[in-house]
Amino acid sequence: MIRAELLVTEIGDLATLRGGSIPRTGSQMSLLGRISRAALAVDQGKFVFVGRAVDARREGRLRPRGRTISAESQSVLPGFVDPHTHVLFAGDRSQETPLKVDGVSYGEIAERGGGLFSTVRSTRLATDRELLAATESRLRRMARAGTTTVEVKSGYALTHFGELRLLRLMVRLARRTGLKLIPTFLGAHAVPPEFVGRGTAYIDQIIKRTLPVVVHEGLARFCDVFCEPGFFTVPQSERLLRAAGSMGLLTKIHADEFAMSGGARLAARLHATSADHLLATPEGDFGSLARAGVIAVLLPTTAFASFSGCRSPGRAMVDAGVAVALGSDFSPNSWVESMSTVLAHGVYGARLTPHETLSAATVNAAAALGIADQAGQIAFGRAADFAIFDVPTVDHLGYRLDAIPTAVFRQGIRISSR
Ligand code: ZN
Repeated sequence: MIRAELLVTEIGDLATLRGGSIPRTGSQMSLLGRISRAALAVDQGKFVFVGRAVDARREGRLRPRGRTISAESQSVLPGFVDPHTHVLFAGDRSQETPLKVDGVSYGEIAERGGGLFSTVRSTRLATDRELLAATESRLRRMARAGTTTVEVKSGYALTHFGELRLLRLMVRLARRTGLKLIPTFLGAHAVPPEFVGRGTAYIDQIIKRTLPVVVHEGLARFCDVFCEPGFFTVPQSERLLRAAGSMGLLTKIHADEFAMSGGARLAARLHATSADHLLATPEGDFGSLARAGVIAVLLPTTAFASFSGCRSPGRAMVDAGVAVALGSDFSPNSWVESMSTVLAHGVYGARLTPHETLSAATVNAAAALGIADQAGQIAFGRAADFAIFDVPTVDHLGYRLDAIPTAVFRQGIRISSR
């Protein structure tokens, strides 16, 4: 007999994402571990039953004050894992959109006082309260769209104390929203105005002064770097990530977004957990990513919102045996809160199949955060993070441009519904 605080019955199509290797590569990207006419039972925040409704009816018993929810033949998925966001910032950049439409380049927008450094200015000026309120509302909308785990990067302060402040706020954001947040230290998002022309000195400051505090206080799981022309060079990025790795942090790289920066090759050489963006990575480098076990985190809505003309190379990467994950890259430059929209761009932009996008936004995204044993699958003993979508089958995710869940649960507690 199964004792449960919550029973979810009459699930039309359940995608557990169980089975296969982790991370998934090749044809395994299409394994969804589906069960039709399914049910779930949750106790103390964890799944205690995942299987056919008929078995749940026979074996399941509700605890006193427990409750049963009928999914009314809708479809159920693991909560999405968003492995790449810059959601913690103040202000917005809506005024830049007409300039982007006009064809004004990213560099020109920056010269006119816009771009990344305008967000740095507003973030530095914002109070803790303002930053928490703005970010909390964004995270809540992401949760309503089906996301239960979110990687959050620092990177809009670019000072020692400012970056530490952002990382410390993430602990409070996790408590306030109930979401699982994975903090990433991105002090090397750009060379700050105070260090113009002295990128190496800025990297030195991060290594000697900021990283030791980040590690000592346990403020981040990952260290990331923006390895692009005009930002940080391959040798600067390598020095930072080797230092971070030696202090016990996992590593990620913003690689090959605007140009072939050599970032993906560096990720392979360092056996980084992930390399992200990869719009300009030559196909010849895909094999080394695959062999090094680096997960490619593709961010197709950013390519779309930047008029870059490039498409995320999802199809070619899966065919080359690279483990592909999908993320939103939520930032003031590409504001997207819904992972189902990212999935659709994974299909129509990156030429992944809808089933591949589901693996990419769950199991593989969790692997890109080093938490594949905790998130991204509906399985016995796992945290009960899942979303109910009003679609006849999970085949409609990635196919529809904006599927919206009817209810989202994190550790068995409903965190949003409509
Ligand atoms: Zn990014």
